Amino acid sequence: MKTIQAYRFALDLNPGQERDVLAHAGAARVAHNWALARVKAVMDQRTAERSYGVAEQLLTSSLPWSLAGLRKAWNTAKPEVAPWWGEVSKEAFNTGLDALARGLKNWSDSRKGARAARPVGFPRFKSRRRSTPSVRFTTGAIRVEPDRMHVVLPRLGRLKLHESARKLARRLDAGTARIMSATVRRDGGRWHVAFTVEVDRVEHGPARPGSTVGVDVGIKHLAVLSTGELVANPRHLLEAQAGMRALGRALSRKTGPDRRTGRRPSKRWERAAARLARAHARVANLRRDGLHKLTTRLATTHGTVVVEDLNVTGMLANRRLARHIADAGFAEVRRQLAYKTGWNGGRMLTADRWYPSSKTCSGCGTVKTKLALSEREYQCETCGLVIDRDHNAALNLAALAAEFDTAGSGPVAGRGADQKTRVHGQVAVKRQPGTAPAGQTGTVSPQGETTDRVLTKAH
Ligand SMILES: [Zn+2]
Repeated sequence: MKTIQAYRFALDLNPGQERDVLAHAGAARVAHNWALARVKAVMDQRTAERSYGVAEQLLTSSLPWSLAGLRKAWNTAKPEVAPWWGEVSKEAFNTGLDALARGLKNWSDSRKGARAARPVGFPRFKSRRRSTPSVRFTTGAIRVEPDRMHVVLPRLGRLKLHESARKLARRLDAGTARIMSATVRRDGGRWHVAFTVEVDRVEHGPARPGSTVGVDVGIKHLAVLSTGELVANPRHLLEAQAGMRALGRALSRKTGPDRRTGRRPSKRWERAAARLARAHARVANLRRDGLHKLTTRLATTHGTVVVEDLNVTGMLANRRLARHIADAGFAEVRRQLAYKTGWNGGRMLTADRWYPSSKTCSGCGTVKTKLALSEREYQCETCGLVIDRDHNAALNLAALAAEFDTAGSGPVAGRGADQKTRVHGQVAVKRQPGTAPAGQTGTVSPQGETTDRVLTKAH
């Protein structure tokens, strides 16, 4: 099975290399902003002409919004706009123009209602201060050095990795992986390189294809499974979270930027903000790492994995930080399980957001009208069951798989409540063969994506 997969590694750049990368990221921004200004100017011109009653065919011709069109316009203009263009790789400009082409497409799809995801606004100018510096290379010499501690990228040369690239190198050596692009970007105060790779995976079935497991993602524990197992949070996560809160308080005591008065942040504020960003990144990494281990184990063991759609029932106190982390965890678990169950020949089912997984008794099916957040133990008045709250929820999720199988993919008959569809199968994002040609600019994974996004390819 061919999949598109990302491998991300932290980089140790020396000051000269950091300058080079920033120059490339800056060039990407220049091209992006120049093209955006052109697009806007032409749009405004056409709007004005229409308002004077100029006939549609006589309007100023609109600028093509495709990557190829934007690139053509840029190549004509670059000697004027960026006389220094020869100093950076052309891939830098391509990075910025590709981001714009995608942004314009998402905006126009969103306006036409052709986009399933949340609405997207018109692309905005990228500022040096606020945008994440990044540059993507899709052609030229991109490789991992035999020592697995260095990578070679066009123009930037040999960059030292902070961690070993052995996992990717093994696949490359075995011929089961092909690098399609490499993106260098700064995340959470640290430089990373992310390779988009076409991987040929050997298909394995789950160890127990007939088995079903319900997963209740939490905050005190990483997750509670319907088997009764508590999956603990990764080590050091609690300390890292405490450190993050302390840094947040420290930041709030310093002089930050103010948009209304145009006040610039103080140096101390900037340093504190950078520390906080690093702490955020560390917490996110620790959590993601724990979730990866969990989802891999679930997908390789069980044939069916049932998760909740959203954490609306709120098994945790509604504090913003806790809420934010848990919601991110929910999304991450679903995302990882969706492709990992696909790789392993299993399936993931998602319970509808209205499904009362916490309020339902896993023993007799009675649904409580109220369940306080503080009640950590579920006590059923009908059958007398006493069970840990999260374990109960996980059992209910697992039980949904049976309902799904008897009812097919249509709406599932409710158990004591009046909601419609309770559970639905996960539809993997499919790419038709040939729509993801390797090595072509602008066709690989978009900029600014999560690091290990995966698309299952039809084969
Ligand atoms: Zn009961």
